[in-house]
Amino acid sequence: MNRPAPSRIPRPGKEGNVMFDEEYEVVVVGSGFAGLAAAIEAREAGRSVLIIEKMRVPGGNSAISGGMFAVVGSPLQESAGVQDSPALLAADMVRAGQGLNQPDLVRTVAEHSLEAFLWTRDHLGVAFDDALIHGGGHSLPRTHITPGCSGAAIIQAMLVRCRELGIPLRMQCALEDLVRDRDGRVAGLAVRDGYIFPQPGSGARIRIRATRGVVLASGGFSQDVAFRSALNPRLDATIDTTNHPGATAEALVSALRAGALPVHLSWIQMGPWTSRDEEGWGVGSMFTVLVGFPHGIMVDATTGRRFVNELTDRLARFRHIAMEGRDPMVIVGEEAALRYPSLTQCLKRKVVWKYDTLEALALDQGIDAAPLAETLAAYNEAAGRGVDPVFGKPVKAESRYQIRPPYYLARLKPKVHYCNGGILINPGAQVLDAGTQGPIPGLYAAGEVTGGVNGACRIQGVAICECIVFGRIAGRGAAEG
Ligand SMILES: Cc1cc2nc3c(=O)[nH]c(=O)nc-3n(C[C@H](O)[C@H](O)[C@H](O)COP(=O)(O)OP(=O)(O)OC[C@H]3O[C@@H](n4cnc5c(N)ncnc54)[C@H](O)[C@@H]3O)c2cc1C
Repeated sequence: MNRPAPSRIPRPGKEGNVMFDEEYEVVVVGSGFAGLAAAIEAREAGRSVLIIEKMRVPGGNSAISGGMFAVVGSPLQESAGVQDSPALLAADMVRAGQGLNQPDLVRTVAEHSLEAFLWTRDHLGVAFDDALIHGGGHSLPRTHITPGCSGAAIIQAMLVRCRELGIPLRMQCALEDLVRDRDGRVAGLAVRDGYIFPQPGSGARIRIRATRGVVLASGGFSQDVAFRSALNPRLDATIDTTNHPGATAEALVSALRAGALPVHLSWIQMGPWTSRDEEGWGVGSMFTVLVGFPHGIMVDATTGRRFVNELTDRLARFRHIAMEGRDPMVIVGEEAALRYPSLTQCLKRKVVWKYDTLEALALDQGIDAAPLAETLAAYNEAAGRGVDPVFGKPVKAESRYQIRPPYYLARLKPKVHYCNGGILINPGAQVLDAGTQGPIPGLYAAGEVTGGVNGACRIQGVAICECIVFGRIAGRGAAEG
C-alpha cells in the first residue's frame, strides 16, 4: 500500500511561514473504519489523498472489532418483520446516552445507518450473516454481523478499495501537530515519518500540506493509561482494556492544541461482557455478547441470583456490577452455546466451562446451588412465555433458548472498552473550535476520536455505523474543501 498515488503532488508548498515537504489535497489520519471510509469518499470525488497510520499494521480497533453493525430498515429487519425507524434508534441512543448526546449528530447517524450499511455491503462487497441480533440497549433487534464476527472483513474490503483507487497508505507515520495558518485554517500537519510505536520522537519530522482538508480519524484512547486516569482516576493501570495498543491520545491532544472543542472526555465505557480469565477482548467477549446475554442469564456468584436485565445498556450493566460489588458470571444452555463459532477455542482456553449438571457448576464455581437452581427455573419458566417479570429483559418466546444442561459458563470482569467522548463535530463532520464553537476551516473528524454522538453510553453496533456515516461525510466535506 505504500506506492504513491498517481495524483500525488511532490512539490514543497508554503503556508504562512510554514514550509511543507509534501502536498496532497486531502490527508487522513488513521486507517480504521472512519479513516478508510473518508479516504475512499475523497478519492472517489477525484482528490489526491494520503492516509497516514502510526502502527505497523492498519485497521486499529476496527480490525479487531466484533463486526456488529446497527442498522435501521435493512432487508433483514424487513424479512423478520421488525418495524424500526430512525426515530426509534435515536431514542435508544439518547436513553443510553442519558440525554448528553448532541441531537443533530444522533439524527445524522440514525438517518444514514441504512445508507452506510448498503454502501459497506454493496459498494465494498462485505458479506453479512443472516442473523439479526437484539443487542444491549436497543429496543429492537437491529444488529447485523459479519460471518466471522469480526470487523477485519470490513477493513479488508476497505483496503482493497483504497488499493484500487491508488490511495497511498503510509504506515509508521504519526501525526504530531496540526498546522493552522494565519487565517486559522488547518493547512496541514507535522508528522513523524518512520515512527516506531511507542517511541516518541522516533522517525523524521516532516510537514505535509493538505490543500482541501485534514480528516482526523485516529480513534479512541482506551490504552492511554496516563490520559484516561487523568480523566477518571479509577481507570488506572490495574484495569485491563479490550483495545489495540495504538489506542492512545496524542492525536486527540494535537487537535485540542489546535483549538478543537472537547466533549464528554471522561465518559469512558467499560465493557460488561469481558472475561476475567483472559487478557483484553479475547475469545470470551463475543461468547457473552452473542449467546450469553441474549440467551442466558448473568448471576452474581455470591448470591446465585440475577441482578440486572442482561440486555440493558452497557453503562447500566457496568454500574450494577461495580457499584453493587457483584461477582458476575453468565450461564447458557447448550443449544445457544453451540451457535457461537469460537466455542471450542473458548473451552480450550478455559474462558468458558462446560458442566453436565447445575450442581457440578455450583460446586466448581463456589455458588450456592439452591438459589441458583431457583433462579434458573424461574427464568426458564417466565422467558418460555416470552416475559421477564423480574428485570424486563426483552425475551421472545419463539426466538430464545431454554437454559438446559449441559451448561456453559463464563466469568466476567469489565474492562475499558470505548471512549464516548472526543472532539465535537457538527453534522458535516467539521471540527468545532473551542473558542468560537464554529467550524475550524480545513479540519474534519469522524469515529471514536469524536464525541457528542453517544453521550454517556454508546449502544451495540453504533460505533461501526457512526464511523462509516461520519467517515464518508468527512471525506466528502474535505474533498469539497
Ligand atoms: C475489541 C473491540 C470490539 C468492538 N466491537 C465493535 C462492534 O462489533 N461494533 C461496533 O459498533 N463497535 C465495536 N467496537 C468499537 C469500534 O470498533 C471502534 O469504536 C471503531 O472501530 C473505531 O474506529 P476508528 O476508525 O474511529 O478508530 P480505529 O479503528 O481505532 O483507527 C484509528 C487508527 O488511527 C491510528 N492512529 C492513532 N493515533 C495516530 C497518530 N497520531 N498518527 C497516525 N495514526 C494514528 C491508530 O493506530 C488506528 O489504526 C469494538 C471495539 C473493540 C476494541
